[in-house]
Amino acid sequence: MSQTEKHRLKIGIPRALYFYKYGPFWTAFLDYLNCDVKISGPTTSVIVEEGTKEANSELCVPMKIYFGHVKELLSEFPDLDYIFIPRYVSSHKEQFFCPKFLILPEAVKYGLNLNTSIITLEINVKKNSEHESAINFGKILGYNGETMIKAWDYATRKYEEFQNKAREGDYIELLNELDSNPKHKRKKKIIKQIIPEAIRGKFPVNILVLGHAYNVYETHINRDLISRLQAMDCNITTIENLPKSEFSEKITINEQYHQYWQSEDEILKTARYCLSNGSNKIDGIIFLISFACGPDSLIQEIIMRDMKKRKIPYLDLVLDEHSGESGLITRIESFTDMIRREKFQ
Ligand code: SF4
Repeated sequence: MSQTEKHRLKIGIPRALYFYKYGPFWTAFLDYLNCDVKISGPTTSVIVEEGTKEANSELCVPMKIYFGHVKELLSEFPDLDYIFIPRYVSSHKEQFFCPKFLILPEAVKYGLNLNTSIITLEINVKKNSEHESAINFGKILGYNGETMIKAWDYATRKYEEFQNKAREGDYIELLNELDSNPKHKRKKKIIKQIIPEAIRGKFPVNILVLGHAYNVYETHINRDLISRLQAMDCNITTIENLPKSEFSEKITINEQYHQYWQSEDEILKTARYCLSNGSNKIDGIIFLISFACGPDSLIQEIIMRDMKKRKIPYLDLVLDEHSGESGLITRIESFTDMIRREKFQ
């Protein structure tokens, strides 16, 4: 008996980590399967505090926030049938996701002593095709293979539509549209314009904001970085704005070091865009890095050296649960001022 013949399953999704990247896929996939999807609200100080209390202190901040969101979900929706926690191992045969994604379901289950069941979609193309992953997931819910393949293909189409819209649109707003819960609606923070109106738009600076989607679009932890830069008359480009073609060619670092981290591959390819097709479109790079992130600390050095060689201004901002607003504002103000002076002098 499928779940449509029983009751409509209530499945919770924490608004953290890969929700910022694959959330549109997951919600479409679960919608197709007639699940009642509940998403935790936007990150707050309480969520960060709770996550920090529960998670191992050596974890990166996005993981700590994830723990906080699971707790938040359970307190807002105590009657959930499942919490959806995918396991991303690999979606390209030669690469792996960060080990944190491999152990995420267990880390949450045992870290939080959960009583609510976790439902896991495992993506590991080294072992199963994507359709096989969907079929395995469907077995838990009582769906046959044909339905699961249709659900996967439907979600893939919806995800592509989302990505196409996101190339031009406001990514954060598009993500927020996935959650219809009125309690989770937040007014966009109004950031004071730094540049006087009379000269606004006359001396713009083009900044590439690099980093994982859960750092770039997590406005609580990055202190509204994108809006702040826009208030400083900066045009922003992110990974999500670039055409698919920028990601098709392989990254070669050197004979000894083969880049096998999947998300970092995307970041490196975006950095390469600044040195090739985008060299006259980008004036500077800001790389958002999570404190205690192993994969990012490896590629940070590579990106920094490349930008130095090509004299492209580069700034890295390390995020953790204690990141303060004033320090961040001072750093981005001086960075953009320096670029502007150089560009328009
Ligand atoms: S890639 Fe870095 S920031 Fe992301 S989960 Fe892994 S350690 Fe944390």
